[in-house]
Amino acid sequence: MKENIKNFTLDELKKQLENMSEKTFRAEQIFKWVHQENVSSFEEMTNIAKELREKLDQKYTLNNFKIIKKLVSSDGTKKYLFDLLDGNIIESVLMEYKYGFSICVSSQIGCKMGCKFCASTGIPFIRSLEAGEIVEQILAVQREENVKISNIVFMGIGEPLDNYDNVVKAINIINNPKGLNIGTRHISISTSGVVPNIYRLANEKIQCTLSVSLHSSNNEKRSEMMPVNKVYPIEKLLEACREYIRITNKRISFEYALAKDNNDNLKDAKELVMLLKGMLCHVNLIPINKIENGKYIKSTNDNIIKFRDYLNKNGIVATVRRELGTDIQAACGQLRRTTVENSLIKNN
Ligand code: SAH
Repeated sequence: MKENIKNFTLDELKKQLENMSEKTFRAEQIFKWVHQENVSSFEEMTNIAKELREKLDQKYTLNNFKIIKKLVSSDGTKKYLFDLLDGNIIESVLMEYKYGFSICVSSQIGCKMGCKFCASTGIPFIRSLEAGEIVEQILAVQREENVKISNIVFMGIGEPLDNYDNVVKAINIINNPKGLNIGTRHISISTSGVVPNIYRLANEKIQCTLSVSLHSSNNEKRSEMMPVNKVYPIEKLLEACREYIRITNKRISFEYALAKDNNDNLKDAKELVMLLKGMLCHVNLIPINKIENGKYIKSTNDNIIKFRDYLNKNGIVATVRRELGTDIQAACGQLRRTTVENSLIKNN
């Protein structure tokens, strides 16, 4: 079977060419064609000899995704349903901010974490994405929209720290100056709290931002919302976060989805302040998006503001995340895994 050429870091591609008895500088040229020129065939690599182009074509694939469906929100946010060419579909979301374009990428087909408020949980887990499939989400959107994406958030379908090696590899590929050249400071990884891999990530020395889905400062409540808390309770999670901050010197962003009558009253805010006091962190409040058959509903605006103000007055920097793309089910927690057949039925 042909291998996806987007799965290789530049160094790996150099080795591949060496093994084909080709000069390694060719690897740089090819890497540029793939990641900067964003070509759709090896044929287009005009500074590569025809013979080598043919060899590449026999050995590798570019694996360019097919867009099955593109939905455009009234706020300009766009959601893409990509056919991975194996019958699976994943979703990615493009958002435009003042500073540029940001993409929310998926890291797995489905998710094992089982968070009760998240739509990605509804359907069984199929598999993790390969590094090249993570990178291709960015390339596919850039081809379609003719834009340069400047920020990446791993907040789509899946738990990035449950697909650790491929996510770190994808970041390495995306970050390469000969490729997409997106700085790691412009990349955020969001985790539900896979503690051992927070320690691993801290030691990678990549400067990406870590977002941690906290959602409650109380173990009982958090375990009910997020089963992962039964394995890695809040104390263990926070210990890992402190170590992450110590090693990287970087501020952690805690995500806190506010659900009415669940985790949104002042008592919860007080507990949260106690928990995070003195930490180099920021709290990102997300008005929870209700999902099909979900029991959690959005807090009132009044409660959201009170919660935010309480944190800010008590020394914890907190902001409310702007809600984008809710009308096309592209907001936090609304991405799902579907199959090609499924999505065609739903969308017709
Ligand atoms: N698995 C990772 C990344 C995916 S979710 C994680 O758990 O962090 C990205 C963010 O959206 C997480 O903070 C997640 O908890 C949040 N989220 C999930 N469902 C949501 C919902 N229905 N409303 C608001 N935020 C939600």
